[in-house]
Amino acid sequence: FRVTLTPIRRRDKGVAGAIAVIQDVTEFEKLEQSRREFVANVSHELRTPLTTIKSYAEALDDGAMDERSLAERFVGVIRSETERMIRLVNDLLHLSRFDSGRVLLRRQQTVISDMLEEVVDRFSFQLRQKAITATVRVEPNVESVWLDRDGIDQVLDNLVSNAIKYTLDGGTISLTAARNDSGQLELCVQDTGIGIPKKDLARIFDRFYRVDKARSRNMGGTGLGLSIAQEIVRAHGGTVALDSEMGAGTSVTVLLPIVQEGSEPA
Ligand code: ADP
Repeated sequence: FRVTLTPIRRRDKGVAGAIAVIQDVTEFEKLEQSRREFVANVSHELRTPLTTIKSYAEALDDGAMDERSLAERFVGVIRSETERMIRLVNDLLHLSRFDSGRVLLRRQQTVISDMLEEVVDRFSFQLRQKAITATVRVEPNVESVWLDRDGIDQVLDNLVSNAIKYTLDGGTISLTAARNDSGQLELCVQDTGIGIPKKDLARIFDRFYRVDKARSRNMGGTGLGLSIAQEIVRAHGGTVALDSEMGAGTSVTVLLPIVQEGSEPA
């Protein structure tokens, strides 16, 4: 609580009393705290690749350049760290647009089966590399839906990319779409991957939260994929939930209200 005291002065300059304002600043403090954490996280996430890039550039300068195979490896590291930084900055820009409410959905009639098939196509190389089987199943009660195709593509890309990252070779990923009992569109991305410990589930949508920081970084992750997915789904008036069993797999369910063309949900 914050207490502010303002004295009430009498005409003869004496004090007649005081007005006390007691404010509950819990929410404000919480916001400030999360803002501070966010800035610290961003700085750290940017400093890590920059430090790596600097030391590899120095090593090249100190002679590694003359050894062809070593030089190639070092340049490879510099390139992949730079790419990760670009992804990070793009993700941050994306989130800041949501934070400032500058996001306009551009809805279009979208054939759900095409949308899911196309996600799988975009990842066909990575899927083949890890011998992961991806299946798509769309219930007959789902045809086309009025949604922001770019936004939902981004959501699905983030979810499928995670499913691939955290599933061992030879696993399975299934994408399903159905209309649930409440008439919402239910999109589900399920994998047979390593899973997430129960204790981490509550924070999994937090910005920069990862179960295993080192592993996520090695995989090129930014720790922002799920936060961005959640923001996009919320902008559609929907919700996203994640369920996971260690060693068995993870499933993420996106619920989207089905909106009539030209109208927005309340
Ligand atoms: P990242 O860029 O690290 O993948 P995300 O926000 O997409 O960031 O995910 C946050 C964390 O949640 C990941 O670092 C990972 O620990 C965990 N995670 C997300 N999806 C899965 C999944 N399908 N299987 C296992 N762990 C997952």
